Amino acid sequence: MIVKKSALEIEKMAAAGAVLVATMRMLEGKIKPGVSTAELDVVAERFIRSQGAVPSFKGYRGFPGSICASPNSMIVHGIPGPYRLKRSDIISIDIGVTLDGWVADAARTFALTDASPEVANLLSATEQALFAGVEQCRVGNRVGDVSHAIQRVAEGAGLAVVRSLVGHGVGKDMHEDPQVPNFGQPGKGPVLEEGMVLAIEPMTTAGRAAVRVASDGWAIFSQDDSLAAHFEFTVAVTADGPRILTPWHLKDACEDPQPLPETATPGL
Ligand code: MG
Repeated sequence: MIVKKSALEIEKMAAAGAVLVATMRMLEGKIKPGVSTAELDVVAERFIRSQGAVPSFKGYRGFPGSICASPNSMIVHGIPGPYRLKRSDIISIDIGVTLDGWVADAARTFALTDASPEVANLLSATEQALFAGVEQCRVGNRVGDVSHAIQRVAEGAGLAVVRSLVGHGVGKDMHEDPQVPNFGQPGKGPVLEEGMVLAIEPMTTAGRAAVRVASDGWAIFSQDDSLAAHFEFTVAVTADGPRILTPWHLKDACEDPQPLPETATPGL
């Protein structure tokens, strides 16, 4: 069942999204060689809670982290831990923020240093695929239009689209209907209506699409160990077109959040 949101509810989700964007921006400044993903997790959780919000992922089906931190060939669902980032790494950061009971969900893949042409293509094409999908989030379109737009851009850049992981509706629950695959046929699937809110999230690799699950039961890697990217927005379908509720791409997307207390950043 697809749960549509009122204009007021979409504003509440945008407020959660603003906390998420501030969190992503804060983490971006800390993604450097030598930092561990556990350290990123700690500062993210403290920041999110300092804003009166809750990290949505923590405890979700037993997930121990507040964010997902997935380096290199890890596509998604990395449990933060002792791994320390290296200069040559890329790292996908996925954040869920719950504020006043409403969830925002977004992800972004960062390169730690100047990217090789292969890495630059992986990141830029996956981000472009996300925006192509967002552009299709319009009243009267279908989920397949979103899926197809993502697939066309990603595969057009020579990337493989991961098929076993999909985008989803989002609202009071982190995972709602409908599923939003990153491949598909235009004109197929559920019709998009005003008030639907979708987490659009292309997941790609520079190799093949097959995945494997790590022994921790969470982390999902490319099976061929090729580099992977993950870019995600929470997007509302409105009468005025798509509205990105987690605009991490905009410099001045949200009001300045409350500053993080100095004591909240040990070791970073
Ligand atoms: Mg996500």
